[in-house]
This record gives sequence, C-alpha cells and structure tokens, in this order.
Amino acid sequence: ISKMAKSKFEYVRGFETEDYLLPNCWIVVRIDGKDFHKFSKKHNFEKPNDRRALSLMNRAAVSVMEEYKDVLLGYGQSDEYSFVIRKDSTIYNRRRSKITTYISSLFSSSYVYYWKDYFNDIKLKYPPSFDSRCILYPTNENLRDYLSWRQADCHINNLYNTTFWALVLKGGLTNAEAEKRLCGTLSSDKNEILFSEFDTNYNNEALIYRKGTILLKKRIKHPTTGKNRLVIYPLHEDLIQDVFWRTNSEILEI
Ligand code: ATP
Ligand code: ATP
Ligand code: MG
Ligand code: MG
Ligand code: MG
Ligand code: MG
Repeated sequence: ISKMAKSKFEYVRGFETEDYLLPNCWIVVRIDGKDFHKFSKKHNFEKPNDRRALSLMNRAAVSVMEEYKDVLLGYGQSDEYSFVIRKDSTIYNRRRSKITTYISSLFSSSYVYYWKDYFNDIKLKYPPSFDSRCILYPTNENLRDYLSWRQADCHINNLYNTTFWALVLKGGLTNAEAEKRLCGTLSSDKNEILFSEFDTNYNNEALIYRKGTILLKKRIKHPTTGKNRLVIYPLHEDLIQDVFWRTNSEILEI
C-alpha cells in the first residue's frame, strides 16, 4: 500500500529541511500578539492595563501548559507569553517548526475560544494572531537571565504606560504632550510624577501589572488517594532575585 501511495511527485518532500533543536538546552517559546496596539484599540482595552485581556492571555497560556506536559513554566505580560520546555524534552523530536507552530496556533485558538468568558458581550471584531519563536538556552543562568529580561521589560513598559495614561486621563494632556513630557525621563522621574501630581505610589499598583504572571506547573499528591495531579497556578511576583528560584528550586534541578 505504501508503495502504491508513492507518486512521481513525492521527490519534492526532499526539499523540506531538518529543523531539530540542539539537545540538552532549555527551549523557550515566546508568542506575541500581532499588532495588538491596533487590536487593543479596536476592542477598547482599558489603559494602561486591561485586566480582562491579561486574564484571557493567562487562560490561553494554561491551555498550552495543559496540552504540553514538558512545558514547566510560563511567563506572560502585555500581549506576550514565554513557555519554558524541559531541557531533556523529546517533544516532536525537538523539531523547531512543530513546536513553534503548534504552540502559537493552540494559543491563538484558545484566545478566541475563551474570549467570551472574559469580554462577555463585547464582540471579537476579527481573528487575532500570534507570532512564535524558539530560543535555546544552554545554561540555567541564561534561562534565568531570559526570564529576568522579560520581567524587567514588563516593569519598564508598565511604569511608562502608567505614567503616560495618568498624564492623559487624569492630567488632561494630549497623547503627544504626554509623550513629550516623558521623553528622556528616568524611572525615578516617573515615580515622582505619579506621586506628586497624581497621588499614586507606583509600588501600590497591582502586582499583576508590575510583575506580569508566572504560571507554575506542580505535581501535587492527593492527600487520600495518593494519586499525582498536575496543577498550574499563577504567581505575580519577582523572579529576578534569588528568592523565587530558592522557593521553587525544583524547576532548575531537572
Ligand atoms: P507587533 O505586531 O510588532 O508585536 P504590537 O502592536 O503588538 O506590534 P507590542 O510591542 O507587542 O506591539 O505591544 C503590544 C501592545 O498591545 C501594547 O503596546 C499595548 O498597547 C497593547 N496591549 C497589550 N495588552 C494590553 C492590556 N492588557 N491592556 C492594554 N493594552 C494592552
Ligand atoms: P498529525 O497531527 O500528525 O497531522 P493527523 O491525525 O492530523 O495527525 P493527518 O495525516 O494530518 O493526521 O490526517 C488528517 C486526518 O484527519 C485524516 O486522516 C482524516 O481522518 C481526518 N480528516 C481531515 N479532514 C477531514 C474531512 N474533511 N473529513 C473527514 N476526515 C477528515
Ligand atoms: Mg505584539
Ligand atoms: Mg513588536
Ligand atoms: Mg508585545
Ligand atoms: Mg494532521
């Protein structure tokens, strides 16, 4: 049968190239929403942070972590999510395109599937999409630095956005005026603007906005049956300092 299925056209398969990822490295897959500047405008996201949108991102990420057992940890902020895959994983024989495309397509379809649970009667106006890339990190330090980089990015953007939208929504500035006002300012200047002009202590802003969301996968033994159960739970805390990695030391022990 398999011989009969061959055709003279089959040789074109030989044009496909191999894309196996190096063994023994952490695999990070990061997805990011396509043109979410526009998407967030079209769907009237609250500024600077729409809580529903963040919760929906987290829900879509949980779908990915439930489907793929080798994804140990997720980290999300804004319109992006990073997924950390065990370094000894043999998922799809470590074929890059299988891994990146399956994860972004499951993420996108889940985002649409669960939309109504978070946005209720607000209609989804067009199908959103997410890009996806695979990055290899050979050492635990590289992996930690990667996650620190994303969380530092969350902090910088959120401080900027929080100040920007305070100037616009509470201070009555136009977008252009607010942008000009913030041009060249340091973090300390933004903290000061928030504090002295808007009575806002940035450190009291919600942790989910300032730190993003860490999704941890843990194996929990049922107290009576003794059966192992996988749970995925969200944390909104610092992952740059050592505390997180000391408390969750099993992640890097793999
Ligand atoms: P690209 O296609 O290059 O990624 P982009 O418009 O998606 O372009 P990003 O750098 O990914 O650019 O930024 C995402 C944008 O989406 C943010 O700047 C912000 O305007 C918007 N956004 C994402 N999530 C939220 C949210 N929860 N609340 C409010 N705005 C959001
Ligand atoms: P993989 O994940 O490896 O692609 P698969 O189950 O999707 O596994 P495919 O070789 O892609 O395997 O085959 C797709 C299968 O989906 C078909 O064998 C058929 O059973 C089913 N299928 C797809 N489209 C239709 C359709 N329009 N009507 C009926 N069955 C369909
Ligand atoms: Mg984007
Ligand atoms: Mg971009
Ligand atoms: Mg982004
Ligand atoms: Mg198929």
